[in-house]
Amino acid sequence: MLDFAIIGGGPAGLTAGLYATRGGLKNVTMFEKGLPGGQITQSSEIENYPGQAEVVTGLELMDKWPEQCKRFGLEHSMNEVKQITKSDEVFTITLGDDTTVESKSVLIATGSVPKPSGIKGEAEFFGKGVSTCATCDGFFYKNRDVVVIGGGDTAIEEAIYLANICKTVYIVHRREEFRASPHEVEKLNKYDNIELVLNHTTEEIIGDNMGVTGVIVKSKDTNELRTIDAMGAFIFVGRDVLNQTLIQEDGSFLCDTNDSGEVIVDLKMQTSVAGLFAAGDIRIDAPKQVVCAAGDGAVAGIGAINYLQ
Ligand code: FAD
Ligand code: NAP
Repeated sequence: MLDFAIIGGGPAGLTAGLYATRGGLKNVTMFEKGLPGGQITQSSEIENYPGQAEVVTGLELMDKWPEQCKRFGLEHSMNEVKQITKSDEVFTITLGDDTTVESKSVLIATGSVPKPSGIKGEAEFFGKGVSTCATCDGFFYKNRDVVVIGGGDTAIEEAIYLANICKTVYIVHRREEFRASPHEVEKLNKYDNIELVLNHTTEEIIGDNMGVTGVIVKSKDTNELRTIDAMGAFIFVGRDVLNQTLIQEDGSFLCDTNDSGEVIVDLKMQTSVAGLFAAGDIRIDAPKQVVCAAGDGAVAGIGAINYLQ
């Protein structure tokens, strides 16, 4: 039986593992379906992680985390977790191959995934011109035109990344003002190959059997339709939390969540179920920052030690 099972190996899960093992817990396993590091490894540029003075990519930022976090005995099990249940003070973790592992306490730190926009053509052309990762797919559009949909920090950052590779980057946003921080928006001024298409909705992503050929947008001022010719459509319209592992046989969640499915925690990252902690992007009111996810993980790791004592 494990003392502490950590589900997810992003900044929150890794840091929880570091604090729990360094704090004396012996049987601590982090279940991470891929390589540890989390969603930040898809980012092209991090400039707000304290102590990291040079701008680095997400992969560079996370490079040393697994090594440091495993130094005190954290185990990594490269498995997807399907479900977490609790009975008689013991948690049962069901893995992708239907085997089970028992643990006295659990941290859910599964983060979030790109939210689908619901735009016509998005699903049809996903992977054939539609993408949610500029660092993964940007290279395929070298010297080509692409459209970025969204107006948050991710859309702006990734549009800038694409502007260094592509011919023209059209940012289509449904309002006049960006949701992104003013500091990010200001950076757009440096790029004369970024065209802002503001106050426009995206009506459809169009294409043929080779993939995307363009994006139809509509002005909210005039209702005028315009087709932007482009081979790539990058969609950054926010993220959904990954809470499926908490769903029980009867369809309810193992612990309390809010209307968006985010896990409700207290200041100790304790959920409504004793011994079950949540940290990082999956929790309510998450600032969705690496430093905050790591901080949450530290709190949860310490919380698990106290719970087991
Ligand atoms: P995640 O990083 O999402 O990690 C969750 C992990 O859980 C993943 O590795 C996933 O594979 C794993 N997992 C999920 N489900 C399961 C399962 N069922 N079984 C096993 N494993 C599972 N933040 C900043 O501070 N600065 C930035 O500049 C910045 N830029 C960003 C740019 C982009 C493009 C993106 C997408 C995000 C950016 N963020 C930035 C936000 C930051 O990446 C997140 O807030 C942070 O990674 C959240 O950490 P987490 O540990 O909660 O979750
Ligand atoms: P976000 O902040 O939620 O922004 C989503 C954007 O997409 C908004 O501009 C929204 O428009 C638009 N949108 C939503 N649904 C849409 C739809 N169906 N069709 C068209 N547009 C739609 O998401 P995010 O940019 O992914 O950022 C997520 C979190 O990570 C944020 O907290 C962000 O600060 C953080 N993050 C931080 C950094 C950084 O610190 N450098 C970098 C990346 C992300 P409206 O504005 O009209 O709602």
